Amino acid sequence: MTTAQGGCGAIGGVPSYPLAAREARPEGTVIRVNGATLGGGDFAVMAGPCSIEDEGQIMACAEAVARAGCRILRGGAFKPRTSPYSFQGLGREGLRLIRKAADAHGLAVVTEVMDCDDIADIAAVADILQVGSRTMMSYAFLRKVGRMKKPVLLKRNMGARLEEFLLAAEYLLMEGTTEVILCERGIVSFDPTMTRNTMDLAAVPLLKLLSHLPVVVDPSHGTGRSELVHPVAMGAMAVGADGLLVEIHPDPDAALCDGRQSLDFDRFTALVDELRATHAFLREYRSRG
Ligand code: PEP
Ligand code: MN
Repeated sequence: MTTAQGGCGAIGGVPSYPLAAREARPEGTVIRVNGATLGGGDFAVMAGPCSIEDEGQIMACAEAVARAGCRILRGGAFKPRTSPYSFQGLGREGLRLIRKAADAHGLAVVTEVMDCDDIADIAAVADILQVGSRTMMSYAFLRKVGRMKKPVLLKRNMGARLEEFLLAAEYLLMEGTTEVILCERGIVSFDPTMTRNTMDLAAVPLLKLLSHLPVVVDPSHGTGRSELVHPVAMGAMAVGADGLLVEIHPDPDAALCDGRQSLDFDRFTALVDELRATHAFLREYRSRG
């Protein structure tokens, strides 16, 4: 086995992640969740608040997501916060609320799992298990998540090389999960006064060359600024992403977490409208051969 060291990494070589490698499934993996399709040329928008705050907030988000024609509601119940004094999420009550809101609007749920002890309980409630950037490199944890055999949204660690990202996916796949969605969410920025992270959009087409797994982009954490979410989301579609993970909030200024990068509902609807029109155009253009 070779490792990717500089240059074009494992392209053309023997990948160190045989299960995640494009060669394992040249036609590409297609994951279907609640009528949304990740992979296979479709485009799925997963949206919701950074964290579930109360019933009214998550219900309003679910309604906005459904109204926009999207099928998957995101929302954090267990939040990985840099400071232990920051809002940590509502925990199990948050899980209950997001399931209730999703069911009321016919949506699927994606939510983060942070602790090994919570995996089974969250797997019983959520449709997709989110592994956050910070836990992407927690290998025993990845194995346990993989054993649930549920779809997993795996976020790239902000300091991870693409080979490390794909090896994290390999840990999940080794344990029997077949449905792993790779999420590019930006890497450490040398100028965090401007953008929270550096949105590595080139990673999208490269990951799709290296791997058969669907790739989505998180322009919210990738930029940290709501005014950049729309243009970067359009860029994600243009470079071949299979979907997005977007933070929205009924009143971003009042959000308990990540309001600065959250779209209000009007801006979210405008984004989905433009994505839909652009996707139809690109599909038609690319089908001309
Ligand atoms: C999130 O999507 O809720 C989140 C915390 O993102 P990340 O793990 O990418 O920082
Ligand atoms: Mn967030």
